Formats: sequence, C-alpha cells, structure tokens
Amino acid sequence: MPAKRKTEPGARRRGKRADRADRADRRGRVDWLWVAGFLARLGVAGVVLGGVLVLLLRHRDVRALVHYSEPPEELTMPVQGVPPSAVKSTWGDPRSGQRTHEGIDIFARRGTPVLTAAPGEIIRVGRDRLGGNVVWVSGSGGCLYYYAHLDRFASGLRVGQAVTSGFTLGQVGTSGNARGTPPHLHFGIYPGSNAFRAVDPAPLLQARAHVVPLPSLVVVASQSFVGD
Ligand SMILES: [Zn+2]
Repeated sequence: MPAKRKTEPGARRRGKRADRADRADRRGRVDWLWVAGFLARLGVAGVVLGGVLVLLLRHRDVRALVHYSEPPEELTMPVQGVPPSAVKSTWGDPRSGQRTHEGIDIFARRGTPVLTAAPGEIIRVGRDRLGGNVVWVSGSGGCLYYYAHLDRFASGLRVGQAVTSGFTLGQVGTSGNARGTPPHLHFGIYPGSNAFRAVDPAPLLQARAHVVPLPSLVVVASQSFVGD
C-alpha cells in the first residue's frame, strides 16, 4: 500500500503532465482548425456580404454596364478640338507610390470642354484625392470610362444621367494631383471583360477617330472656343 501511495501520486503527476501535454497538443490542433474554420466562415460571409452590397449599392452600375454592353459605335475625342494624332500614350508609365499610369493625359487649355468618349450612364460625379474632380461613366462595351482633373463640372451633371458620345462633362483643369502640371484630362478605360483592369485608351482613340469624326457641332464650338 505504501508503495502504491508512493507510486500513485507520481503516476498522477506524470498523468497530469501527460494530460496537460495532450490538452496542449489538442488545443494547438483545435486552435488551428478553429482559426481555419473561422477564417473560412469569415471569407464566405465576406463574399456573401460583398455580393449583397454589390447587388444593393452597385445595382445601378451593373444595370448600366449590361445596358451598354455593346461595343461603341462611335468614339469622340474626350477633349474638344484635340486631334487623335496629338495624343501620346503614357499608359503604364511609372507614377508616385509605385503606381503605374492607368490612362492617358490629353493636354489642352484650361477650360476646354471635356466630352464623353462613348455613350453611357454617369455613375459618379465627385472629388478624389488623386483625380480631383472626376466623372465615371458606365458605358459602351461594358466599360467604365474615367475622366479626371476637371477644372469644373458641367452644370446639372448628375449620377444616373444617360449621356451620348460627345456629351460635355466639364472642363479641362488641374484638380487633384495634377495641381502644378499643365492642364490636362486624365482619361481611363476599364473594360468589364478585362475584370475592370485598365487598358490603354490611346490605340482605341487613334484607330477610331479617323473612322468616326467629331460631330460637326463640336468642331464649330471648339473653333469658337480657341478663338476666344
Ligand atoms: Zn494621367
């Protein structure tokens, strides 16, 4: 019996140590499984929540993209009076903060009208840190069209507004991070078919401009503007 008493506590102690080690092992394994499960649930919830948000908040944008899914029949140079030959592609050039230039810059006098390159629906009119006064249009070809650094917006411009190609959005300026640079329009195209990653607009404009000339009304207005 004494031997039993001597061995029992030792056995219990060994048992406790073993149990603790087992529990620690189990806890370690269970913890990782739990974390993995938690992250998986969070991921699924995030996808579901994101999907709901997309459906609720961006319904208008998605509807516009579907509505304007056909490729553009005509393109307008997005700065009035600037010929396509004057557009140099600076797409992909390095920019601050390890960014690349996701568009082209079309230089013109401050105040030159900024026109829609393609028909669509305005989905954002606002002010951003980089883009300054910006307009986003969900338009032809299921693309998002981005117009930035505007000096001012055209009066009455509003989200949800349907616009034709060549519609006046505002005026060329230097708002946002273009401050201190020569006035220009930053123009970007983000096709839905490219997962909304930017493509170079320059070849598109250069290829289409001679096929589809600017509306004569715009050319006349441009000449009268330049003469002022
Ligand atoms: Zn730019």
